[in-house]
Amino acid sequence: MDERANKKVVIDAGHGGSDPGTSSNGIREKDYTLKISQYMKKRFDDLGIDSALTRTTDETLDPNTRPKRAQSFYGNGNDVILISNHINAGGGDGAEVIYSLRNSDALSKKIATELEKAGQNVRKYYQRRLPSNPAKDYYYILRDTPNNESLIVEYGFADSTGDDVSQIKNDYETLAEAVVKAVAEYLGVPYTNIGSGDYYIVQKGDTLWGIARKFGISVDELKSANNLKDNSLSVGESLKIPKENESVNEDEYIVKSGDTLYGIAKKYNLTVNELKELNNLTSDSLSIGQKLKVKKTLNNNSNTYVVEKGDTLYGIANKFNVTVDELKKANNLSNNTLSIGEVLTIPNDNNNQNTIIYTVQKGDTLYSLARTYKTTVDEIKRLNNLTSNNLSLNQKLILPI
Ligand SMILES: [Zn+2]
Repeated sequence: MDERANKKVVIDAGHGGSDPGTSSNGIREKDYTLKISQYMKKRFDDLGIDSALTRTTDETLDPNTRPKRAQSFYGNGNDVILISNHINAGGGDGAEVIYSLRNSDALSKKIATELEKAGQNVRKYYQRRLPSNPAKDYYYILRDTPNNESLIVEYGFADSTGDDVSQIKNDYETLAEAVVKAVAEYLGVPYTNIGSGDYYIVQKGDTLWGIARKFGISVDELKSANNLKDNSLSVGESLKIPKENESVNEDEYIVKSGDTLYGIAKKYNLTVNELKELNNLTSDSLSIGQKLKVKKTLNNNSNTYVVEKGDTLYGIANKFNVTVDELKKANNLSNNTLSIGEVLTIPNDNNNQNTIIYTVQKGDTLYSLARTYKTTVDEIKRLNNLTSNNLSLNQKLILPI
């Protein structure tokens, strides 16, 4: 067995308690380092990598206590990776990785690469020496934790004038996932991306109902995915958000307890009005067990054709790659006569697949969408004329259904 696979990971949530770290633009460092660390812990658990957190609450850890705490779980050997999570300040933009003097840059380099793949620019990965003793590390979390493989990840600048503020606030899980992936690859542990955003850390004031609604699922689905017996939640608890179920590819949805038009519409990338129109609903009330149509075809307009002067059934059929018979059948035509201005329904031919317009959500990747919609990354790229694999939040994509 690869020796690396036996390595353990200590995740250090930087700052905490009376030491908030940096604070700008609504980002308080100690809060985000904890969120990032808890997300990483959950993901390392998923991947079967042993890990521990230096703090799980808003706890103050002074510079003496923190390295001791970090080494209290798995000791001071080189079989322990210590990742100290931080948010930067000083007006730059991008991530930085700082690795200890006793280590090579191998892991830092991987982390930098994965952060870049995740859409964050990396300023540098480097070592920093103590001015009074250049043989030692500048940062105590690196200096006082030999022989661990210790490093600091600065995910971005809270006071950035670039895109860091939004990346930290909206995409911290994506950035944390990049580090998880780098570590898994470094350790030679099989990495599966079950999708960043699949876990949600319970915040103060959250309710099951609110969280279920946020993710367009039912309270029951959320409870069963997490084996919850009652409705109580604790702050900091990590909840698995179940994938939109397979019925996402079907035409029909059966209303469950706790469903709302809003939640169902969101799940199927419809607006509430579209959902109501599809089902001829005149009110917003739903009943459990009610069946709703949830499938919308792209460009309804392209499925009809207005007859122009000189058109023949044969010509129109040819144009839309259907047969004259199909065209007649779709329009209940008993003869071949057309009148100018007549609106014809153009039946879908088999090559002309149904599609929906999907709005890119946080955590989506081409890969995860391909999986959900049972298609391929290449097919999505072809349908959307994409030249790269990058997606942006709220980007509209055509997806086959
Ligand atoms: Zn910090």
